[in-house]
Amino acid sequence: MNEIEQIKEKALKEHIPIIMDDTLEIVEEILQEEHPKKILEIGTAIGYSAICFAQYLDKNGKIDTIERDEKRIAEAKLNIKKLDLEKIINIINGDAVDVLPKLDEKYDIIFIDAAKGKYPFFLKESIRLLADDGIIIADNILYKGYTLSNYNKHKQRTAVRGPREYLNELEGNKELETKLLEVGDGLTITRRKKI
Ligand code: SAH
Ligand code: MG
Repeated sequence: MNEIEQIKEKALKEHIPIIMDDTLEIVEEILQEEHPKKILEIGTAIGYSAICFAQYLDKNGKIDTIERDEKRIAEAKLNIKKLDLEKIINIINGDAVDVLPKLDEKYDIIFIDAAKGKYPFFLKESIRLLADDGIIIADNILYKGYTLSNYNKHKQRTAVRGPREYLNELEGNKELETKLLEVGDGLTITRRKKI
């Protein structure tokens, strides 16, 4: 087993929700085509997806990735170090709701993979931070099928409402076009429309 596979195994064993294989495959195809210089990730967990994405960066490319859980940050740092990616992957420690408004660079790829209740806010900030020909990718958008069902149990309500609002927002947005893929837990791929 190589180091990336070991990180994946450990995440699965500890029930850390890392990107699913089929989802990763789609994202990697996009990255392979785009050769991004700057990626922003919302939701680092232990660094698995960021480490996978790093293989596809353009020369001198960088990843900023936001995480609020101290324990996961510590583990992500160890993993990133193991793969010698400290100069490439930069973890921003904090809640993305506070961190995002403070960023003002443009990103070629933005990967949203954190608290589902906050997806509408993440979308708004991502549109602001997106390069002209950039792509916003969001994971877990179908949330085990709840998003497009009429499921309304109290406990899950904000987690379901987030992806629903996210999709509605994109549907109403005339400047963006979005593909929804039923891969993994549901993935959207959003680009600016060409004029
Ligand atoms: N992208 C990772 C998995 C991320 S799991 C991978 O595929 O390997 C989602 C992570 O987002 C969790 O670790 C959780 O702590 C973090 N998270 C959730 N809401 C957040 C928020 N508002 N700000 C920062 N991190 C958040
Ligand atoms: Mg996810």
